[in-house]
Amino acid sequence: MKAPDFVSVHGGHSGEFCQHAQDSLEDIIAAYIQKKFVWVGITEHIPPPDDRFLYADQKAAGLNAETLYYHFGMYMSTCRRLQKKYSDSVKILAGFETETCSGSEAFIKKLIAEFQPDYIVGSVHHVNDIGFDCSPADYEQAVVAAGGNDELFCRYFDLQYEMINALHPAVVGHFDLIRIFDPDYRTRIEKPLIQKRIERNLQCIKDLDLILDFNLRALSKGASEPYISRAILRRALELGIAVVPGDDSHSAENAGRNMEKGIEILQSLGADTRWRMPKVSSSE
Ligand SMILES: [Zn+2]
Ligand SMILES: [Zn+2]
Repeated sequence: MKAPDFVSVHGGHSGEFCQHAQDSLEDIIAAYIQKKFVWVGITEHIPPPDDRFLYADQKAAGLNAETLYYHFGMYMSTCRRLQKKYSDSVKILAGFETETCSGSEAFIKKLIAEFQPDYIVGSVHHVNDIGFDCSPADYEQAVVAAGGNDELFCRYFDLQYEMINALHPAVVGHFDLIRIFDPDYRTRIEKPLIQKRIERNLQCIKDLDLILDFNLRALSKGASEPYISRAILRRALELGIAVVPGDDSHSAENAGRNMEKGIEILQSLGADTRWRMPKVSSSE
């Protein structure tokens, strides 16, 4: 039997266009080609809707919402250029990864209209407008603001549900990222109020026929399993949802990292490894 193709539904963050990544986008694409990827969705982060949502590293670099918007335009045009340049070696999709915070829905619709991405990855990195995934201290702040760990999970999945319904992203990014700094997540996701929300979101993803990102970056950041956690993954596969690897690479060196391991997990659970490619929505 032919080994499953190397693909990524969520990849290619580059130091050229993202403060917390390394290397040029072209170097990262070269790494994917070298690793024999068949197709890759390049999905850089969007700029913040306004200065309130600047990350610490962006502020430290003297960037603001306006300059980041300009960089993002450069990203989209560079990605389109490289998509054509390397079309004989790898199929590149030019997309982006969303934020979910106050003002983001209208802002993302504007970005889609202006830049016509091939598709988007719908992600949530904020709860109650607090970014929770950069550090344990940020996470703790989000827990306190939400009124507890369970409440934080509930709110996260509610925001994700609203985002999915508002944007219909072709790919839902790292579905359970909210577990990132919670050592008790395996028991927490079984709690009825949280479980109910996870089931609702999965049903919605199924009904809209969206793809789940099987996010391998978790492994290089020290987690014992990718997002999505095994219990949720089993349920997603039972529902017949397409689950596809996303390396969420942030440098040429980590492009494709842990792909074998990710494929092995998906195969062991009986996932279909004839990976579905995101539906391309632009006119190109
Ligand atoms: Zn990133
Ligand atoms: Zn993300």
